[in-house]
Amino acid sequence: MTVLQGEGVSGGVASGRLRFFRRNAQETPYRDAAGPEVELARYEAARDAAAAQLDKLYEDMKAALGEKKAFLFQVHRMMLEDQDFQDCITSAIREEGASAEEAIKRADAQFSQMFARMDDDYLRERAADVRDVSQRLLRILRGRQEASTGGEPCVVAAEDLTPSETAQLDRRVVLGFVTAKGAYNSHTAIFARTMGLPAVVGLGERLQAQREGELVFLDGTTGEVFINPDAATVARLEAERERQAALRCDLKALRDREAVAPDGRRVLVCANIGSIGDLQAVADAGADGIGLFRSEFLYLERDDYPTEEELYRAYRQVAEAMQGRTVVIRTLDIGADKQAAYFQLPPEENPAMGFRAIRICLARPDVFRTQLRALYRASAYGKIAIMFPMITSVSEVLGIKALCAQVRAELREEKTPFDEDVQLGIMVETPAAAVISDLLAREVDFFSIGTNDLTQFTLAVDRQNAPAQPYYDQRHEALLRLIRMTVESAHKAGIWVGVCGELAADPSMTGFFLDVGVDELSMAPHAICKIKAEILNG
Ligand code: PEP
Ligand code: MG
Repeated sequence: MTVLQGEGVSGGVASGRLRFFRRNAQETPYRDAAGPEVELARYEAARDAAAAQLDKLYEDMKAALGEKKAFLFQVHRMMLEDQDFQDCITSAIREEGASAEEAIKRADAQFSQMFARMDDDYLRERAADVRDVSQRLLRILRGRQEASTGGEPCVVAAEDLTPSETAQLDRRVVLGFVTAKGAYNSHTAIFARTMGLPAVVGLGERLQAQREGELVFLDGTTGEVFINPDAATVARLEAERERQAALRCDLKALRDREAVAPDGRRVLVCANIGSIGDLQAVADAGADGIGLFRSEFLYLERDDYPTEEELYRAYRQVAEAMQGRTVVIRTLDIGADKQAAYFQLPPEENPAMGFRAIRICLARPDVFRTQLRALYRASAYGKIAIMFPMITSVSEVLGIKALCAQVRAELREEKTPFDEDVQLGIMVETPAAAVISDLLAREVDFFSIGTNDLTQFTLAVDRQNAPAQPYYDQRHEALLRLIRMTVESAHKAGIWVGVCGELAADPSMTGFFLDVGVDELSMAPHAICKIKAEILNG
């Protein structure tokens, strides 16, 4: 037995065979055409591989969730083989000398726009399916793994995982992950917690020396990883797993209880999510709403910008699933550790403090408007609130509000339905925003305090930098004062204030948040019942 010690970043015991995550390091965004014969053969091979993937997905999904849910993959299969779609690709290769990638991109644009312009709702929604099929073909052409796991239940091992790789791990088969690098407050770790996936990071070089296929047990609370454990260790960890499951069952009793503190004050306990896949956990936890939907994950691990239609469909799905409870959707917070090649952002020396999040959106109103239109359109189907990240000044907020007003005017003109009362709020996650929170509170409907970045910027500690983590003290008096100041400014202006950073899920901080008077705490779904219990006990 080999024992490795790392940092547990997402609780729970997981066990399975080690599967090393493979990523194609030589991936290049575009490729020059190598001649029609070669490109045609590449396209045809990709088409056949995509068909095989879709058949398997259909069968797997049918077994897991039933025929109705699986039907989508048959629709994709039909699109893949649609004669017009295929002709469009092959003629671009034959007659215009395009590479397979370029030809697929052109067919994708042509067909998705054609569907998007249709009057019928059902047909319009097919635009997103065309894009999905095209993305699948492009992924195959670039040699990207469809699933890093080979479809078998496993524990994924990697030097490190990016946040989007983590979000895309196949939850049906990945039981947990272990990495050589990583830090507790990175988005990778946050995503593991959101997904309820046990994880240990910071295992160092000894992890690389382990072998594919070996049996591993990991404890995401203590940070211990056991490779080829002996019988006594397996028995101990199995008992621990059962103990934790029983604890979760006890807490589940609070699922339908409102979190009312002993002094009679109700605090909303909401969920943070990153994708549609998290909705089941939100329902299981009995969340009062969604306090943070990190919507940037709809932009990552793609080859091109998502369309308004795709975004609208995702937002609408979340809004409908929450049945009238508030869903706070944060606009694109890309940059720093969350990168998408097609944004073509230049490399930066210090990306956490660079050209990111709202700065990109304000500089790229085309991208921002697409997202805002999708959000407003989806607001007709539930209670959506829109939240803007990384705010540092009042002028940014005024610019955002002007754009939102333009989008609303456009939708009215088009007679597209939307909710006229959509709340607009900001994240308070920079010291500047906290210090001028009195001025910002006059301009918005709510605040949500992002303690992850607020800690990073207040204490000048990179949240991703493992050796610097001892300085990342979320209980530092400077941070507590900024939180108190923000809550006071909000309440003076008559607006509500939540906390959606990781600190909201820390039961030892619940008393502080009750004391300063926050109205909402938002966290990974699995933490909700634990925090409800803390509030109820005062
Ligand atoms: C935060 O900074 O606290 C936050 C919630 O946003 P993110 O972790 O996505 O940066
Ligand atoms: Mg943040």
